[in-house]
Amino acid sequence: MVVSVLPVSVPSVEFDAKLVGKLSQLGPRYTSYPTADRFTEAFGYRDYLQAVASLRTRGSTNPLSLYLHIPFCDTVCYYCACNKIITKNRDKAATYLVYLKREIEMQGRLFSGMNQVEQLHLGGGTPTYLSDGQMADLMAHLRRWFQFAPDDIGEYSIEVDPRTVSPERVQSLRDQGFKRISLGVQDFDPEVQKAVNRIQPESQTIDIIAAARDAHFRSVSIDLIYGLPKQNVMTMAQTLAKVIKAGPDCIAIYNYAHMPHLFKPQRRIAEADLPSGEAKLDMLSLCIKWLTEAGYVYIGMDHFARPTDDLAVAQRQGRLHRNFQGYSTHAESDLVSCGVSAISAVAASYSQNVKTLDAYYEHIDKNELPIARGIKLNMDDGLRRVIIQMLMCNFELSIASIEMAYPITFADYFSAETEKLRVLAQDGLLTIDNEWLSVTAKGRLLIRNICMVFDRYLNAKPDPLRYSRTV
Ligand code: SF4
Repeated sequence: MVVSVLPVSVPSVEFDAKLVGKLSQLGPRYTSYPTADRFTEAFGYRDYLQAVASLRTRGSTNPLSLYLHIPFCDTVCYYCACNKIITKNRDKAATYLVYLKREIEMQGRLFSGMNQVEQLHLGGGTPTYLSDGQMADLMAHLRRWFQFAPDDIGEYSIEVDPRTVSPERVQSLRDQGFKRISLGVQDFDPEVQKAVNRIQPESQTIDIIAAARDAHFRSVSIDLIYGLPKQNVMTMAQTLAKVIKAGPDCIAIYNYAHMPHLFKPQRRIAEADLPSGEAKLDMLSLCIKWLTEAGYVYIGMDHFARPTDDLAVAQRQGRLHRNFQGYSTHAESDLVSCGVSAISAVAASYSQNVKTLDAYYEHIDKNELPIARGIKLNMDDGLRRVIIQMLMCNFELSIASIEMAYPITFADYFSAETEKLRVLAQDGLLTIDNEWLSVTAKGRLLIRNICMVFDRYLNAKPDPLRYSRTV
């Protein structure tokens, strides 16, 4: 069954149930390459300092992207796979902020003189767990230690749980410099909300969307999930109709991956309440059909945007980038992340902070950046990272440009991969010749399958239980 196609002038997507049924498998989401499960403890604080030093030696003029992780939440949503701490004790957040500010200062000193920030993202947990005063204090501290690009260049975004903010608070976030706001909704259906322990009245969400519009956020985004307990095509249709009517600039529709062996809260979901694989695909197909008919462009993975949104414009201009927070408009920046479990990407390295508060505080008390593990990329990693990035963002790869940038002949270096790509080409996912690899409309939903061909670690040592399904 082929459901829908977008106008030819924009990236299109086709839902082909037979193909998805045949090829959907467990695989990474490629927010990084190598993926985070390949990081090791052999990489530590000193390796990170070396990576920053290499930027200085090169005289790097790359802008910075900052990420702050605020791990606290009031209550637990059973589907959650984030690194979070459930507590109603606000003192914990006050202590955390003291340490977070010290880490920001350490990083600010390290990047002194080369720290123009063009991108900032606050994620969690729930960033708006912080009070207005705490948020203002945090932002002032950031601006003390980092130089922020002017408002018209910078992309400053925040994840907001509508249950934690008032319309006044939304205005205050805008006043503090945030321009993109992403609201967690997941599903409007009361039964689904009950089954995942996230009771969020529809009127509250609609009010916050309206407040974000009134406050002139440049982009308002809504997160939905398909595959939750008690969901079916009917409930999804009702939620989707309401979301389309609210008219956000971006909509992310995540596939719920039930992995209770990895994420404890998911053990509270009754497996009998989960929709079947077939029902999930029907929901996805419905989402693609309705969103494209409503004029949204498929950005990639789980993301749709209005053609006028910055993400869609960046994709048309080949400037789209992908990192741990999803898609972004600012390529070529070094990512500096602060807070528990946060992942940085600086020069040719990835590094991840410790995951518990105790370990985090202990490192910072010793005046050390709280890095637990990471990886230094070699030439092969860098090459494969570029290829996966291009495929995820642009759905095509210029083989000539890869051969110009790297000392390789594509057909020789990737001979085993090319064989696998030809099999995917026979399935209709892509076309490949000496110059271009282009992903077809029906290959776009299965982009992770195509990227997996280039994943050297995965091919050497598969670890499927850690991953979700590619569609
Ligand atoms: S989904 Fe968001 S609000 Fe819910 S527990 Fe996870 S991080 Fe907290």
